[in-house]
Amino acid sequence: MTRWRGVVVGIVAACFALAADPRAYLKLGADVNGSVVALKWADQPVRYFVANRDAAGVTAVDVQRLAADAFATWAAVPHATVSSEFAGFVDAPPVSDDGVSVIGFTALAGAPFTLASTSFTVDDGTGALREADIAVNTSFDWSTAPGGDAAHYDLGFALLHGIGHLYGLGHSGLVETELTTEGRRRVLAKDAVMFPIAFPPGAVSDRTLDADDAAGLADLYPATGERRVLGSITGRVTRDGAGIFGAHVTAFNPSTGSIVGSFTLSNDGTFVISGLEPGLYVVRAEPLDDEDLASFFDDTSAVDIDFQPAFAPHLVAVPAGGSSARLDIRVTRK
Ligand SMILES: [Zn+2]
Repeated sequence: MTRWRGVVVGIVAACFALAADPRAYLKLGADVNGSVVALKWADQPVRYFVANRDAAGVTAVDVQRLAADAFATWAAVPHATVSSEFAGFVDAPPVSDDGVSVIGFTALAGAPFTLASTSFTVDDGTGALREADIAVNTSFDWSTAPGGDAAHYDLGFALLHGIGHLYGLGHSGLVETELTTEGRRRVLAKDAVMFPIAFPPGAVSDRTLDADDAAGLADLYPATGERRVLGSITGRVTRDGAGIFGAHVTAFNPSTGSIVGSFTLSNDGTFVISGLEPGLYVVRAEPLDDEDLASFFDDTSAVDIDFQPAFAPHLVAVPAGGSSARLDIRVTRK
């Protein structure tokens, strides 16, 4: 018997707790008979519909055009293979478990800070995605202006982020934020479209993907033979010999300027950063104290942020098609 289940992730206009899978990082996980498998589509192209509903100043046809652009942006990621197919306009809203993947406007009641959210219908027998729906919140004002609009959020960004989730990507932690006087977080800089907080209205820089987004997609949907092209870094983050759970670990390539992040996801502090171009990397472990933990982990109590950021003691070589030598990053308490 096949059972169905939903996982919801979203982007927020400001700090707000979201329901995310507890093991989410670059990839979202589904629990299949007690073991975690990455959420992904077994078959492509992914067929999607667009809800036949307009919002203030934006039509369903605009949504379809910008969704097609965003799918094309993801499809252009090097070393990855994803494809999609627009199946038509439907009157159905973007809700889970009705058998069709729908992108479109709806009122997200009870989520006043959520710009958009993506929900999934998963085959619990295999973990394969069966359906994904992207709901764009009509409580916000949206813009399709090519140059952006200072009073409206950018619909192109929201769809690019939502489609990243639709393919199975979770949230990235590559960002710098500051706390505002209202206790929310404002984004100062970020290196991933998949970071869970949006830039303010008017910003259009998030219409293009960053290296971290691309690495996540290439890891989930490697083009044929690409496992032999891209490499990974594996290692542990420890303090006094004990593993750190929930550390954010980043790999920076000085020759390309790209940066890719991941998390330690087990109690022994093990991490894997996948989808990396071969080369030399500067690797750094840092506490997730610049973000809102609930955007990444359901059980935030397990996340350890009591340590000073630390670099790996040397540059880390990533080979084509393989993993780095096992890396040991030792951190100390704050
Ligand atoms: Zn999101």
